Amino acid sequence: MLESWSSVVFGMECLGCGCASESLDPWLCPDCQKSLANLSKEPRCPAEDVVCLFPMEKLTRRLVHLLKYRAVPGMASYLVRRFCGLRGQGLFSDFARPLYFVPVPLHRARFRERGYNQAEMIAVALAAQTGGRICRWLRRSTFRVSQTKLSRGERERNVAGAFVPQLPSELPEKGTVIVVDDVYTTGATTGACVDALGKDFPLDVKVCTLLYDMPFSATMDFVADRQAFWTP
Ligand SMILES: [Zn+2]
Repeated sequence: MLESWSSVVFGMECLGCGCASESLDPWLCPDCQKSLANLSKEPRCPAEDVVCLFPMEKLTRRLVHLLKYRAVPGMASYLVRRFCGLRGQGLFSDFARPLYFVPVPLHRARFRERGYNQAEMIAVALAAQTGGRICRWLRRSTFRVSQTKLSRGERERNVAGAFVPQLPSELPEKGTVIVVDDVYTTGATTGACVDALGKDFPLDVKVCTLLYDMPFSATMDFVADRQAFWTP
């Protein structure tokens, strides 16, 4: 439904490159579809127990930006479905079932602004593709500064203790928890979520994000932003 509306709302322009196209799917033109397929070739595992579906490239950055800042929540399910259609065979296949998807919670102020939690949209899409359910087992403790412009050390200090568990009185006896977020950079945010579940948490805990952004490219973004700001 949302996708059929999108062509009305956005006209017939590809959301990836902005070119007019008669063959949108309904969001991407054939060239961008091909690029996305290429980007999905190898899921990235930047750390043990972490799976990222796509690398952060110009196209995927733009699509996730639409998801986060331009109120296109359906982009989460689009990207997950695309990935699973192309490479999803075997995604999470060696994880003990059932799967419990725990989205990284959004701060309340952000939620009010955005109207939805993008991590939860991704978790819902992953659960729809691989089976499993959504568990809101974490919440934010206090407001933290946005992570985007911080160094790794600053990020770690900023998120340590940012999440508190809200677990059911009886946890399931088997299965795997998958903490879900939109972008993995240094792993500080998802790491803080895993820590919040506690050392004695009885289930396996993994992490899955839509994108993997190399810490180096996040730094370059920061530099580029500052240059853009200071260049007359
Ligand atoms: Zn395109």
